[in-house]
Amino acid sequence: MKNKLIRGLACNGRVNVFVVDTTQLSNEAQKKHDMWPTATATLSRVMSMAAMMGSQLKNKKEKISIQIQGNGEIGSIFVDVNGNGEVRGFVGNPHVHYQYNDTGKLAVGIAVGNQGMLSVTKDLGLKEKFTGQVALQTGEIGEDFAYYYAVSEQIPSLVALGCLVDTDNTVISSGGVLIQLLPGALEEDIVKCEALAQPLARVSSMFKNQTVEEIANSLFSDFEKLAEHEVIFSCQCDKSTMKRALLTLSKEERNTLIEEDHGAELTCHWCNTQYHFSEDELIELERFVEQFAR
Ligand SMILES: [Zn+2]
Repeated sequence: MKNKLIRGLACNGRVNVFVVDTTQLSNEAQKKHDMWPTATATLSRVMSMAAMMGSQLKNKKEKISIQIQGNGEIGSIFVDVNGNGEVRGFVGNPHVHYQYNDTGKLAVGIAVGNQGMLSVTKDLGLKEKFTGQVALQTGEIGEDFAYYYAVSEQIPSLVALGCLVDTDNTVISSGGVLIQLLPGALEEDIVKCEALAQPLARVSSMFKNQTVEEIANSLFSDFEKLAEHEVIFSCQCDKSTMKRALLTLSKEERNTLIEEDHGAELTCHWCNTQYHFSEDELIELERFVEQFAR
């Protein structure tokens, strides 16, 4: 199942607006990684952000990779997106669940922690990759990305990310809104955008009963859609990527797999797909390595 992202302009072309629904995508991730609610909400928020950041990439080869390393129990968070709207991601500890006592909301900031780093790497198919890195602010993800944009890209941004999880761990609704002031923005645009922070505090429930277009139009009466894309949870792994992973092991380690384990079971971190290599396949791989080494 695919989700939809739209981007466009508002305030007479002085404000950039992105809206993405990631409900299906987040459900897919929840199932693949068997995540508990707060872990799901955390990964979902980062994936919504990645989908919006990636919406200006041109093709499958252009990629944005996000890594968050906080001091909370969830550990590392990895998400990447390519120009085809294919998003994938995982967290260090999928079995994390915290709620704030007062609001009952999923406590993403506690799961992630507020000490640590957020880094964004853009691979635009050029010789060099561009990496921007900032310190985490709250671990709630939205504020951390707003800070990233302000510091690393000098773009004043309002970021709203949310995910509602049901009692059976499935995702009810999730998505994100990114609003960015363009260089010619006026004082009135700033006031208008700042006033949106309050309605956007309940962003996750907006995706429960509104389309991405309805959300954009409810925020800005003059919203003008420029583009729309599909986004999907998709990993590009296959048996040959796993073969390359086997080749990063030492010869001794590979021999152990052949002689003691008589096969190998490899799991892709990104999508949790398991790949089996029989003893014969491992022996064949070893022959290939020897040929190559000669
Ligand atoms: Zn995979």
